[in-house]
Amino acid sequence: MTKFSIAIHGGAGTLVKGMMTPELELQYKEALTCALNAGYQLLEAGKSAIDAVEEAVKILEDSHLFNAGKGSVFTANETHEMDASIMDGKTLNAGAVSLISGIKNPVSLARDVMEKSEHVFLAGDGAMQFAKVHDYILEEDAYFYDDFRHKQWLDIKDTDSFQLDHATKKDSKFGTVGAVACDQNGDIAAATSTGGMTNKKWGRVGDSPMIGSGNYANNKTCAISCTGSGEFFIRGVVAYDVACLMEHKAMTLEGASNEVIHKRILEIGGDGGLIAVDAEGNIAMPFNTEGMYRASKTSNGEQAVSIYK
Ligand code: ASP
Repeated sequence: MTKFSIAIHGGAGTLVKGMMTPELELQYKEALTCALNAGYQLLEAGKSAIDAVEEAVKILEDSHLFNAGKGSVFTANETHEMDASIMDGKTLNAGAVSLISGIKNPVSLARDVMEKSEHVFLAGDGAMQFAKVHDYILEEDAYFYDDFRHKQWLDIKDTDSFQLDHATKKDSKFGTVGAVACDQNGDIAAATSTGGMTNKKWGRVGDSPMIGSGNYANNKTCAISCTGSGEFFIRGVVAYDVACLMEHKAMTLEGASNEVIHKRILEIGGDGGLIAVDAEGNIAMPFNTEGMYRASKTSNGEQAVSIYK
């Protein structure tokens, strides 16, 4: 049997250790462990990598701690606009949604786009109509309200600045969530979900729903989910760049992931990290920020849940 494995993230950023209380740290670690184990149990039961990444991301979306689903940040209009994507490395099928609101689990809508439409990427009103056709129940605004997120927004509302959860403010909570997995058949998949940036406007879309930038999976190389300053990750086509280094330069998963996060994205000014698996169940989780909420588990019995370096 192939080694199977899963890795998840809850955002990378400028984590200042002193800002984190032991209670909060515990809450983050518990949420990560819960999502990790839910995905791992599916893999253990012989389910597909795509099922495992969707399940893990759904659990992270249901937590107010992360900037995705329930915990999404506020836009300039005091609303929530969420983005998500999912990709199957076996078939190269992919689905993505952007600028959606009221949907409890954007990752599931992305999966439905992949499986129930002829398209890859649906955005805004059209994506919401698609959700309606597929009987999604919309949550009230109150479901997505979080005091801390609201305060983050109040601090910069009516200004031109928009805040990446993890860059400017040292006490900021962050971030985007994602999962990558390799199942017992050696098939791999990736999923990513986010609320984007606080005070974003003009229909700003980051890297998370963009196949090849914030999310990518191909059995031949790797499955990747990114977190960080989306504009740079789009310009660096980061997730696909890791796959390209593996395919065309014969680099290892670890080598290619490090090259992109510690060199190529830094060279254009980007900060963040990614999680990666290959079809042999290897895992890499590099980041160039002070920390990244992350966790991983393999069928060899290795398990890790960490925040800092
Ligand atoms: N990459 C996300 C975006 O730019 C943000 C994040 O990773 O927290 O929308």
